Amino acid sequence: MNKHMTYCSHCQKDVQFVVTPSPGHHAHANLPDGSQVVCLDFGTACDGNLCPLSGLPAIVMGIRLARSEEERVEPWSVVHAVCEECSFPTEFKVLNAETGLCTVCGSVNRLALLKLDDGSYIAASGKTP
Ligand SMILES: [Zn+2]
Repeated sequence: MNKHMTYCSHCQKDVQFVVTPSPGHHAHANLPDGSQVVCLDFGTACDGNLCPLSGLPAIVMGIRLARSEEERVEPWSVVHAVCEECSFPTEFKVLNAETGLCTVCGSVNRLALLKLDDGSYIAASGKTP
């Protein structure tokens, strides 16, 4: 997918983004999929304010990116925890200090995370398998 650059007024830097393709002629025209901006620079600087690219809360962009096949500019921080949805001990992409996305079922979980000095995260609590 073609990558584009734009200036993000919240992060105050140039960011990379892609635009998901519009639904093909087989898709229902009234589905909201397609033509969505997916920012590849979503990160810890996107701290809950509206994302200037999407006009939506920053976490929505994080979820959008985490569920997409697109590669984030910085690799995702990953923690191991038990998913509330699929009940598997699995890997979560860390969206922020309290939210992770299950890499198995794609659901969003509230997680208690501790940020380590090196910038990585560990799950501070969670259900035991
Ligand atoms: Zn899951």
